[in-house]
Amino acid sequence: MRDNPTLTASQIDQIRTVAGARTVQEGEVLYEPSQAEIPMFVVISGQVSISRPGEQEKVVAVRGPGQFTGEMSVISGKRSLLRAFVSQDGEVLEVSPAKVSWLIAKDSDLGELLMEAFVARRLLMIQLGEGNVILFGKRASPRTLVLREFLTRNGHPFRYVDIDSDTSAEELMDKLAVREGEIPVVYCNNRDVLRNPSIAELAACLDLNINTDRSVRDLLVIGAGPAGLAAAVYAASEGLNTLVVEKSAPGGQAGSSSKIENYLGFPTGLSGQELANRSLAQAQKFGAQLMVAQSVVHIDCSRRPFKVVLESGLKFSAQTVVIATGAQYARLLLDEADTFIGRGVYYNATHMEAQLCDSEEVVVVGGGNSAGQAAVFLARTSTRVHLLVRSDRLSDSMSQYLIARIEAHPRIEIHYLTQIVAVTGTVHLESIAWKDGSSGLEVTMPIRHVFVMAGAAPRTEWLEDSFVLDKNGFVVTGPDLVTYQNFQWPLSRSPLLLETSVPGIFAVGDTRAGSVKRVASAVGEGAMAVHLVHRFLAESTEQHNAHEMMASSEPRATLG
Ligand SMILES: Cc1cc2nc3c(=O)[nH]c(=O)nc-3n(C[C@H](O)[C@H](O)[C@H](O)COP(=O)(O)OP(=O)(O)OC[C@H]3O[C@@H](n4cnc5c(N)ncnc54)[C@H](O)[C@@H]3O)c2cc1C
Repeated sequence: MRDNPTLTASQIDQIRTVAGARTVQEGEVLYEPSQAEIPMFVVISGQVSISRPGEQEKVVAVRGPGQFTGEMSVISGKRSLLRAFVSQDGEVLEVSPAKVSWLIAKDSDLGELLMEAFVARRLLMIQLGEGNVILFGKRASPRTLVLREFLTRNGHPFRYVDIDSDTSAEELMDKLAVREGEIPVVYCNNRDVLRNPSIAELAACLDLNINTDRSVRDLLVIGAGPAGLAAAVYAASEGLNTLVVEKSAPGGQAGSSSKIENYLGFPTGLSGQELANRSLAQAQKFGAQLMVAQSVVHIDCSRRPFKVVLESGLKFSAQTVVIATGAQYARLLLDEADTFIGRGVYYNATHMEAQLCDSEEVVVVGGGNSAGQAAVFLARTSTRVHLLVRSDRLSDSMSQYLIARIEAHPRIEIHYLTQIVAVTGTVHLESIAWKDGSSGLEVTMPIRHVFVMAGAAPRTEWLEDSFVLDKNGFVVTGPDLVTYQNFQWPLSRSPLLLETSVPGIFAVGDTRAGSVKRVASAVGEGAMAVHLVHRFLAESTEQHNAHEMMASSEPRATLG
């Protein structure tokens, strides 16, 4: 990916039609960190430098004639993370973010060149940890892990300072008056010190949700896993005014997968995080808006537009809604297990967790695809992986390629008919006991890490009042609805394929009753739902026009 391309003369001419030309002087600041609505600057002559301000300002990139400033913040509507200043007198073209989006949509070659550079620069910033965030934490701190995961999944660059191993930690902490007991601490925007913040507080400090107006949306998508992100990409690319609300960070369950190998078009596989970052960039390129660290807790379906209520109290109106809230792994059913979350008990298996148990023995619980994948991934860095499967065989849902790989792997040992019966430790998990159901034998092992990837359940408690759910809480849609006794349908037509018991509200992906629980099917359903949304909106417009016509043809009372 090219992060610093040079525009051709004809591309510059095209940009000039929507830009303002400016003469600039050395030292002039073009934008500062935390600035909203950052323009893109194309350098015609002279030079512009990009820097990370701080006690010692660091220049991270230089743009010369024919080159341009900007990264993902320009099109995502987020605030800038870095400073741009003129390092040599000259002339620049200033292009507003709206015009950048317009150029990307209008000319595919220029659009590709700009998008590729914006994405590559953001990836570079992530790699180098160049941005407006320093996170002070500890390996053994579960809250540190939560914040690291949140920032990573949002594609937000940050510098991680491990206070146990980083030699610069003490000096930095002294400067910011941070004490070890306050860890994790986030230093944002060279200004704010957040002590053990929630993800909502961190999102607010970083202004991750600034771009959310209160107009009535054509579509509101709940959840930014593969299904929700696909709905957002297709809806926004087809001109629907779209808002996505995500409880945590984009990616969903797939975001916790180290490598997805069966997704069409990626023969060497891709990580869930990569898939989420690419999809998010695509959704933002088409103008979809995203709010993170915000849960939806209620949909008022009594009238249209629907009112969608967030936990924070914010409300948004939308003509249609797509529920894409996925599923969540069932917790380990032992009282003590929750006290070790992030300290030996994990519900994700990404590089971050793998680092925590490098060269140690681990346990993975589950017999399905996600458990299998986690076992193979962890076996790369762990000395031994015990895969504990409750039944007498691996799940039918596990892909054949994974079964073959697990069975052949010298460091993976499968224990069938086996369940964890105890987890013990003081601060960190120190040992695990499991019971073999066939022999009745109980084994205790000094294993400090267990990955739980068994039995996903939907997150639909908040939908119970208005929607038909199946006995396990999955949302029932389309033709299946008629088999439910409590189903009442107000329209003369039947429910559309992915439509819930409320006309105009659709459910897609893992949260839908009968769904396939795969990335590809979640993405497919997200795309299909947008087609149905168009149909519903067209139907509503027709009804509205018919009412208007009836009203205008009715005889009016006249005076006298
Ligand atoms: C470790 C792992 C590995 C996997 N590997 C593969 C694989 O290799 N191949 C494959 O095909 N499938 C794989 N899967 C399954 C696949 O990831 C899921 O089928 C897919 O992610 C489902 O997508 P979804 O969008 O429906 O739901 P999810 O991915 O679960 O996303 C739902 C999103 O909704 C958000 N949300 C929930 N409630 C709310 C609310 N009230 N308000 C706002 N937001 C909310 C959640 O935070 C989440 O981000 C794997 C799953 C895991 C866990």
